[in-house]
Amino acid sequence: TQELLLNSEKLSLAGQLAASIAHEIRNPLTSIKGFHQLMESEGNGNPYYFEILTDEMNRIELILNELLLLAKPQAKQLKQVDLRALLEQVCILMESQMHLHNIEVEVKCEQNVPTFIQCNENQMKQIFINFLKNAIEAMPYGGQIIIMANNIDEDSVLLRIIDQGEGIHEDKLERIGEPFYTTKERGTGLGLMVCRKIIEDHQGSLNITSRLNKGTTVEVLLPLGEKPQNYVPSGH
Ligand code: ADP
Ligand code: MG
Repeated sequence: TQELLLNSEKLSLAGQLAASIAHEIRNPLTSIKGFHQLMESEGNGNPYYFEILTDEMNRIELILNELLLLAKPQAKQLKQVDLRALLEQVCILMESQMHLHNIEVEVKCEQNVPTFIQCNENQMKQIFINFLKNAIEAMPYGGQIIIMANNIDEDSVLLRIIDQGEGIHEDKLERIGEPFYTTKERGTGLGLMVCRKIIEDHQGSLNITSRLNKGTTVEVLLPLGEKPQNYVPSGH
């Protein structure tokens, strides 16, 4: 079993820079997309070229959207969120993709233990979507994904996303999470960098273990927050 502790400070500066650049690029891109649509609707130009342009612009947009998740202002909007409910929401969001790829997801959480975390809900959702997407992409022939959330002590919850995918080669594991490092033809190599950054912004940590051709386990350790005043435990 290979193990990698993902903790690097240099990324927080790089991340902020990346987010501000992404923000600057988005405006001209929006304008380019607009004129491109106009030209297409007026029917001047080669439809094949338009297709390429659309593809490439969508790709730029994808990269920018990933980078923009790093943007600072968002991280400040913290609230108490029930991690289990959030995980279930994400699973519902991903349901059709899972189905399409013959993947079954099982969420295993401790019963009746409140798992509230203080977080930016949107960012938290995004990182779980990223992890699940990677898991799906690692299992081209389908399989099972297990999501586990356990309160390991009074102060922290450990979340695990376990897939049965292709795994990550030992030599590559240490590069995972570097900006733009991808092994996929159409990957951005930004997903895990963004995830790590967001998790660190939430005083958490990210750890990835993998065995080639067996699967990958993504572990996220997050501090528990206070449960909200109006919280009513289920089954009581
Ligand atoms: P991308 O998905 O765009 O390639 P990521 O930052 O999300 O970028 O992931 C970087 C690389 O890490 C991937 O290209 C892949 O090689 C590896 N990886 C991430 N998650 C998994 C996983 N669950 N199983 C196998 N490899 C993974
Ligand atoms: Mg990814």
